[in-house]
Amino acid sequence: MSQLIFEKHSFNDASWLPSPAGASEKILERIPSRFLRKKDAELPSLSELDVVRHFTNLSKKNFCVDTHFYPLGSCTMKYNPKVLDSIAASTSYSQIHPYQDEEDVQGALRVFYEMQGYLSEITGMDEFTLQPAAGAHGEFCGLLIASAYHRSKDHKKSKVLIPDSSHGTNPASAALCGYEVVQVATNAKGHVDLADLKGKLDADVACLMMTNPNTLGLFEEDILEIARRVHEAGGLLYYDGANMNALVGICRPGDMGFDIVHLNLHKTFAVPHGSGGPGSGPVGVKKNLIPFLPSPRVLKTGERYVFEKEAPHSIGKLRSFYGNFGAIIRSYAYIKALGKEGLRAVAENAILNANYLKVKLERLFDVPYPGFCMHEFVLSARKQKEKGVRTLDIAKRLLDFGVHAPTIYFPLVVEEAMMVEPTETESKETLDEFVRVLESIQREIETTPQKVLEAPHATPVLRIDEVRAARNPDLRFRPAR
Ligand SMILES: *Cc1c(COP(=O)(O)O)cnc(C)c1O
Repeated sequence: MSQLIFEKHSFNDASWLPSPAGASEKILERIPSRFLRKKDAELPSLSELDVVRHFTNLSKKNFCVDTHFYPLGSCTMKYNPKVLDSIAASTSYSQIHPYQDEEDVQGALRVFYEMQGYLSEITGMDEFTLQPAAGAHGEFCGLLIASAYHRSKDHKKSKVLIPDSSHGTNPASAALCGYEVVQVATNAKGHVDLADLKGKLDADVACLMMTNPNTLGLFEEDILEIARRVHEAGGLLYYDGANMNALVGICRPGDMGFDIVHLNLHKTFAVPHGSGGPGSGPVGVKKNLIPFLPSPRVLKTGERYVFEKEAPHSIGKLRSFYGNFGAIIRSYAYIKALGKEGLRAVAENAILNANYLKVKLERLFDVPYPGFCMHEFVLSARKQKEKGVRTLDIAKRLLDFGVHAPTIYFPLVVEEAMMVEPTETESKETLDEFVRVLESIQREIETTPQKVLEAPHATPVLRIDEVRAARNPDLRFRPAR
């Protein structure tokens, strides 16, 4: 045996390893010496195996859609097909750069252009921007557009109307854009109260922000009447599209009279989300608002896709480059693969699953707005509270059974609220199991309430002081538990 194979080689510079192309490269020689360490890094001495075990065990503590049922209302924690991740990761998309010349990235620009068109078709709007990075960013973009529009007409507008059941980002976005926020009441049926709206609609109102179905999971049946009144008062109608997975393929906000729409690609279409992103919040507008859209938009001239060169009335750029491409390409592929029929099936199954669960859970919980719901519904743990157990305790106990808690204490108009959104991707077996879990928690509330009050019992961390945890997070991992 030759002496050579016993020579010691280092992985730090693997130039001794033949490269597939033949010639081996000395990578370190290509880095200017001023960037190289003079001294070895002071890294902890741990074996590779110990490190692998540490991170693998940490990763197993993740709670996610891929491991557990996740009925978090409003957030639409549906399953996203893995094939979309492969598409987004393919080198033809992942290796391009936004500084590349238009001519080199015609395929990527085509994705943007066609996506603007698909989203316009799906929502009934005339044009879309793909720039905003999430729903809340879309709201901010939409209100800047509303504000630019009113300024261009010399309208003096100071208020934005928002239903009291709305998501917290709505008033926050309005306030960020300098508007006074005025709340509109919800009536006994869980809809926008028309009489209250009428009293608050005046010439100072720039815009009414709504989501339909609303956060109680109910379709706003008076939407055409509301749109007429808002327009008569000289205001615009903004659609928070976070609940669009209940309508996609069935009906369109553009046809209901909405002027500005945001979509959450990560909720309605297919982008894995949670833990803060990445998301995408495209904004669509009716014709008269197109000049104010963020620039640049992607246009098509002849057979070429190009960035719009001039947009004198645009509100400007909202983020670096043109949008979250990884989220857009996944949703583009999802829309193309599902087609018109598939998208409609998304909404129909989301509505079917929610109504199935709602009927089953009406036996256990108080239901403030009974009857047919859309893709989600809100329960109240009022009855359980009388026995000393609150929604928070039930949410914590669910974790012991491997179920993510529903959204709790939102919307604010429901006492001890529990907002359940099963999404369209869950099976009947999973929904039935969720009902069985809540039934056994209900039995505990009646016989051994302490078990619920002290939950969770089986998670890596037990009941925490939520205020202190937020202000003073302790993120150390303690393998002992
Ligand atoms: C999720 C949500 C938003 C905010 O969207 P993000 O993408 O999380 O910024 C706004 N409104 C409603 C009703 C939502 O559910």
